[in-house]
Amino acid sequence: MIASLLHRNVQLDTATAASSKSGARIDRRSLLDEDHHMKRKHHKALQSRFPDSWRMLLGEKLRWWSMLGDADRERMEDLIRVFLADKSFEGTRGFEPSEEMKVQIAAQACLLILGLNYDFYDDVTSVIVSPTIVYHNGPRHLDGGIVSDDHAALSGQAMLHGPVLIAWDRLSDQALHPDRGHNVVFHEFAHKLDMRNGSGNGVPPMSAELKQRWEPALRSILQRLRQGNAVSLDGYGGTNPAELLAVATEAFFDIPVRLQRDEPDLYGLLRSFYRQDPAARQTASSS
Ligand SMILES: [Zn+2]
Repeated sequence: MIASLLHRNVQLDTATAASSKSGARIDRRSLLDEDHHMKRKHHKALQSRFPDSWRMLLGEKLRWWSMLGDADRERMEDLIRVFLADKSFEGTRGFEPSEEMKVQIAAQACLLILGLNYDFYDDVTSVIVSPTIVYHNGPRHLDGGIVSDDHAALSGQAMLHGPVLIAWDRLSDQALHPDRGHNVVFHEFAHKLDMRNGSGNGVPPMSAELKQRWEPALRSILQRLRQGNAVSLDGYGGTNPAELLAVATEAFFDIPVRLQRDEPDLYGLLRSFYRQDPAARQTASSS
């Protein structure tokens, strides 16, 4: 099962990719417009108040929370409540994730879809929380058809049409130090967005116009990253286009001002796709 997962250390097995669903319907105010059985459940979740204790927690743990404008914060609070009602959270080996963990994971996952439609996460069946990094033994499929049997340390995994695994110790450390530009929730949920059209190829559902600019830009950045000439991005992004999107997403939300300065074209594409501007938020909040 693990061999077909997409995560930091395992290449996506595209042979398991299913056929594409319809493209993204992007309407940031359409949270309640979904045409499926979840509608009533979502509506119920939105009738409950967003607890003040969650607001305090998020303000304390996530630097970007206090940078959100009123409308964006309101939208985030809706998304978080629906996400928590909609997705099941499970722990590994008897571990029970706390409410605080669930709220923080949900908030970071929902930041990616602040400007997108909630149905991007339709096939996130559950979130599996491990208290620590998971060590995976057994064959791993690497680039070039190589199969490795070594031990892999996993901080997260995203499965096509399946759950997302998050190692809590890694995430909580990363959330405390956003300037390092690493965040396993941003990384794994970027893979889920990418997989939304049936395969993880670095091209999530987007308009034809954006796609036309996206694909050549991604190829060029991938090449520069492999040559060591894309300093704001983790070298792991050079693995393949799917990992590039995931790594670029981490930088877009964690170190947006630096990314915009060093990679303005990539930043502009991500801003168009995600329909939000974290660098502008950060600049406004520090002025
Ligand atoms: Zn990855």
